[in-house]
Amino acid sequence: MKIGFIGLGNMGAPMAANLAKAGHDVTGFDMANIVVDGVNLASSAADAAKEQDVVITMLPNGAILRSVAADVLPAMNKGAALVDCSTVDVDSARAVAADAAAAGLLFVDAPVSGGVGGATAGTLTFMAGGTQEGFAKTAPLFDIMGQKAVHCGDAGAGQAAKICNNMILGVTMIATCEAFALADKLGLDRQKMFDVVSTSSGYSWTMNAYCPAPGVGPQSPADNGYKPGFAAELMLKDLRLSQQAAESADADTPMGQTAMALYEKFVEQEEGLGMDFSAMLPRFEGRGRG
Ligand code: NAD
Repeated sequence: MKIGFIGLGNMGAPMAANLAKAGHDVTGFDMANIVVDGVNLASSAADAAKEQDVVITMLPNGAILRSVAADVLPAMNKGAALVDCSTVDVDSARAVAADAAAAGLLFVDAPVSGGVGGATAGTLTFMAGGTQEGFAKTAPLFDIMGQKAVHCGDAGAGQAAKICNNMILGVTMIATCEAFALADKLGLDRQKMFDVVSTSSGYSWTMNAYCPAPGVGPQSPADNGYKPGFAAELMLKDLRLSQQAAESADADTPMGQTAMALYEKFVEQEEGLGMDFSAMLPRFEGRGRG
């Protein structure tokens, strides 16, 4: 396939490299002039989108996606597909889907889970929203960049799944960290705490696979001075998206709201900026109830 790839950052670069390695003809563009092995360089986003079967975007947020889409959609061949793999708000995904349909193009929102490690190894999980035709056309590319792709429903459904998943993640990480901090104060050994909870009804991905306590459980950012991993500010971005979606859908999400407020404080007023999102544990450690 002929593929355009716009946004060659931490995630986009390895994803584009994997498509090129698999034998696809990939042309990339990033406003920071990033060069990726095996990927042809375009001079603009519109240039990267011309004459392609599929155009993939991997960008920071919904406003940037909307502005890039405004340049890219008019440059694309009729019947081609735009696939947005960024994490953005549901409304932006649906707006770009509507513009693409009006231009005779396919659109799939396909945010990912798995981080930079998954992007590099080609083991991402894709959660896709869009038409059956759009998903069928783009699924072979998800198989190269990832290990699983779920077609979640119409346009925006992929972003909805991503936002809900990451709201659970943020809430669960906080719960795991505050429980460790409470256990400390009750004199419970952290390894014993892990041994019990990881095999009891309090178990979770944050406890079992990404334990926030250093030296306990499998290797995680906690064992590396809380260097990300998944940065606290990215967790905050996703929690904000969940609360924006909850607002527009009139959904009651008190735990998501609390998690957002806590990560906001951690990133904007405390030491969270640039730390892994599991650094909530050292944050809770020294604190009392006041
Ligand atoms: P990043 O900041 O490393 O990459 C984004 C890239 O987009 C940058 O290189 C930037 O120069 C480029 N860009 C910005 N505006 C542009 C424009 N107008 N035209 C062309 N290029 C432009 O971010 P990332 O970590 O690669 O994340 C990308 C997306 O993936 C985000 O939406 C993020 O939430 C999501 N995501 C990230 C992770 C992760 O672990 N990093 C995991 C899952 C999802």
